[in-house]
Amino acid sequence: MAKKPKRDRTVRREADRDAKKALNDRLALARLEPGGAPERAIELVSASLVEPTARGIPCPACGATVRVQDHTAETIESRRLRVVRVDCARCGFTGSRYFTIAEKALN
Ligand SMILES: [Zn+2]
Repeated sequence: MAKKPKRDRTVRREADRDAKKALNDRLALARLEPGGAPERAIELVSASLVEPTARGIPCPACGATVRVQDHTAETIESRRLRVVRVDCARCGFTGSRYFTIAEKALN
């Protein structure tokens, strides 16, 4: 077995720190994506699309498919929103996705 270079541990610690920073950056970015916050709710034409659409947005932490835990109708800042709680089976991430149902859904 080859001897490890002395600075291996330092390199690993820097890599850990970079990974955490990258994860935080990804999570912050995800909140700016459509559906990531109440003010960025995704408009859908039918309530039946809420859960499939929420499942279609991958885990912001690891990219895996998320599971729908809960789906509620809430009023946030006087807007009627659908809030879907999702979690990731792979990394344990949990978060909310926000949707609004278009008023004129019958076009
Ligand atoms: Zn994940």
